[in-house]
Amino acid sequence: MDRCPVCRARLSAPVCRRCGADFSQAEQLLLQTRSMVLESLHLWQQGYFETAAQLLHKSLLHKHEKVLEHLLNAWLQQLLQQAIQHLKHDCRAESEHLCQSILAIKYIPLVAQLQAFLAGHDKLQRKA
Ligand SMILES: [Zn+2]
Repeated sequence: MDRCPVCRARLSAPVCRRCGADFSQAEQLLLQTRSMVLESLHLWQQGYFETAAQLLHKSLLHKHEKVLEHLLNAWLQQLLQQAIQHLKHDCRAESEHLCQSILAIKYIPLVAQLQAFLAGHDKLQRKA
């Protein structure tokens, strides 16, 4: 923020010197959001993929940025790949759990179908 959105005076502090408008909360939120993004990148590098995606998603709710949304979509694709890998190794519960995590962040029809399939399969197994 270069200029006060209220009176257009040049802003050098969170509180406008001319009109007194206070942007300290907005600034605080922006800083908080930035640290959430950094933390999510760190978590992803450490291999905490679900938590990283959840945190990045949360940061996007605070402040929407297109490049971060693209990153989140790429991460969700990777989580879907992992869900499929689990399925290949017959870990249905883990696969279903990952699908639920993805769907809690974003509705992806293919993931919803996979999850419905896994849930249905579970029921069939329990009946048998
Ligand atoms: Zn002002």
